[in-house]
Amino acid sequence: MTELTAADLRTVFQAIGDAIEGDKDRLSALDGVIGDADHGVTMSIGFTAVNEALGKMDPGADPTAVFNLAAKSFLNAVGASSGPLYGTAFMRAGAAVKGKPTIDRDALVACIAAMAKGMQDRGKAERGEKTMMDAWLPAAEAAQACTGDAVACLESAVAAAAAGAEATKAMLATKGRASRLGERVLGHMDPGAASAVTILKAITEAVRRLS
Ligand code: ADP
Ligand code: MG
Repeated sequence: MTELTAADLRTVFQAIGDAIEGDKDRLSALDGVIGDADHGVTMSIGFTAVNEALGKMDPGADPTAVFNLAAKSFLNAVGASSGPLYGTAFMRAGAAVKGKPTIDRDALVACIAAMAKGMQDRGKAERGEKTMMDAWLPAAEAAQACTGDAVACLESAVAAAAAGAEATKAMLATKGRASRLGERVLGHMDPGAASAVTILKAITEAVRRLS
């Protein structure tokens, strides 16, 4: 791929926002089954705030500054559990590309890995606890194991995230609101894992268009 500039990264965030907007009702419906029915709304509020802030940003900003502003905006806008999780994820992605004027294939893979690691450090969920980590951790591993180009690595991440999200249906929840419901959560996909797939798909499509 051609390396992503800070402007390209803003285009990627816009694409994520559009995808979340389109998926909002399904995500809230999934959360309605095992949580408090706000996940689509929460994510939509978060990415709307991110894109509003990025739209007013200094055009000379570097990728780290874009991620840092995204982190701050998401965290400030979102009171739900996903606020600090994605806030930390974007902050870590920014740290992963610190000093780089553009993001190449390796840096993009490093961003995905840093996001997953940041979320896990923040939320302390292990794989198998029916959370967004069940999508993000396999996605990061798949991206890191990939030997192809950026789009190929993102495609592997999407496939791994989708399989992980599907697998949450058979899991009991031990973190977050769903942990109060015991066996009632069985058979239902975790909304945070579902939105992780949507986000990764949007990133993949946006990077493909920018390549
Ligand atoms: P809330 O549960 O506060 O309403 P959201 O509805 O926005 O927040 O997000 C719910 C999602 O957050 C869950 O589906 C799950 O994937 C994720 N989640 C909750 N707690 C954790 C955690 N400790 N680590 C990772 N993900 C978590
Ligand atoms: Mg919720």
